[in-house]
Amino acid sequence: MSDLLPLETATWQAIELILRDLLNAYGFAEIRVPIVERTDLFKRSIGEVTDVVEKEMYTFEDRNGESLTLRPEATAGIVRAGMTNGLLHNQRQKLWSCGPMFRYEKPQKGRYRQFHQFDIEALGYAGPDIDAELIIITSRIWRALGIDAVELELNSLGTAESRLEHRQALTAYFERYKDDLDADSRDRLYRNPLRILDSKNPDMMELVSGAPVTTDFLDAESEAHFSTLRQLLDQAGIVYRVNPRLVRGLDYYSKTVFEWVTDKLGAQGTICGGGRYDGLVSQLGGKPTPAIGCAIGMERLLELYKVCGGQPVMNSPDAYFVAVGSDVLLPAFSLVEGLRDEFPDIRVEMNCGGGSFKSQMKRADRSRAAVALILGEDEVAEKMIGIKALREDGGQISVSWPELGTALKQYIDNMGMGNNG
Ligand code: ATP
Ligand code: MG
Repeated sequence: MSDLLPLETATWQAIELILRDLLNAYGFAEIRVPIVERTDLFKRSIGEVTDVVEKEMYTFEDRNGESLTLRPEATAGIVRAGMTNGLLHNQRQKLWSCGPMFRYEKPQKGRYRQFHQFDIEALGYAGPDIDAELIIITSRIWRALGIDAVELELNSLGTAESRLEHRQALTAYFERYKDDLDADSRDRLYRNPLRILDSKNPDMMELVSGAPVTTDFLDAESEAHFSTLRQLLDQAGIVYRVNPRLVRGLDYYSKTVFEWVTDKLGAQGTICGGGRYDGLVSQLGGKPTPAIGCAIGMERLLELYKVCGGQPVMNSPDAYFVAVGSDVLLPAFSLVEGLRDEFPDIRVEMNCGGGSFKSQMKRADRSRAAVALILGEDEVAEKMIGIKALREDGGQISVSWPELGTALKQYIDNMGMGNNG
């Protein structure tokens, strides 16, 4: 679990803002759900025989002996919230959420025990239109961040019935190679053979590559759904690879599943995964509600943003207010707050903590502000204030207090034009 330090948070904020604005523009609304839920919720939704539930959950008892778990993913909590708040009662919901998730995994690059996901969920939509929209949104996110090194993998798992047929075929197939299975896979052979396809053990790859694939068992409806989705993606110019072996790590998926992958991040190359979970709401005791969702791994997204040439975002002020000498503090505060009232868009950092002219100018420089506002004893006596460019030769000008806001705005605007020219 890592700390996110002040130098990095501005980039996180900027990227989160892009995602937030985009989702809001598509008519999705934010939902915030608790980080802790009853353990049972995750067991029933993610599935007992999965890596997440068997090995990765942070589970503990509260003071009342109730088993609780730090959320390993967001969908289960969002569906629970939808049910307990009546949001799914004859309604459809397009939702997004962003926050920390917890999984007890072996920490390595791109794999952490506390990580952040940006989740997008559409409940009450049978698709395939919404399936396409979700994928188009994610594709637009990559474009907005200048990320081009991603590929879309797509599959259909079919309905519960076609999954059952596939499951039987898988058990029959892997039974024939029982002795070649690793311990994990042997354990899952009868309990959940689909999970063997998701194995991360390289020794299992050859066996897995010969196994029956989901697409051989698709029912007509899933087939039509998948075909319309592909047409919509084709029209949107989104390139994808149908990967019949893509099953995803959680149990609740049906029909459409997808992953956005990159080869730029080493072994942890999946930056977004998602799929349709038409059975989940009823499995949790609600009315049957078709739904689809996906989750973007924020740490991996930020890393990929950098790898693709994205620049770190700096949270620097436009102006740094330097106030030196005795009896300047009161006029300085009056001026700076007046300026903030008049032009809320101008970002001004006030020098707090005193210091000599030289040390305050050093702080002004370190703040990466474009200009310094300079107020000394002479200026106070004359009711004037200095404006001085810090990043370029703009010369220093002196303006009267009532002129400060307008003069500073003009000064900054002129500097901007100088830069563009
Ligand atoms: P993986 O196959 O890498 O373990 P997953 O299938 O377990 O991924 P999902 O549950 O689909 O992952 O989560 C969606 C996204 O969240 C992943 O694509 C990834 O970007 C991110 N993610 C998952 N686990 C972690 C983790 N431990 N650390 C950082 N990011 C993660
Ligand atoms: Mg995982």
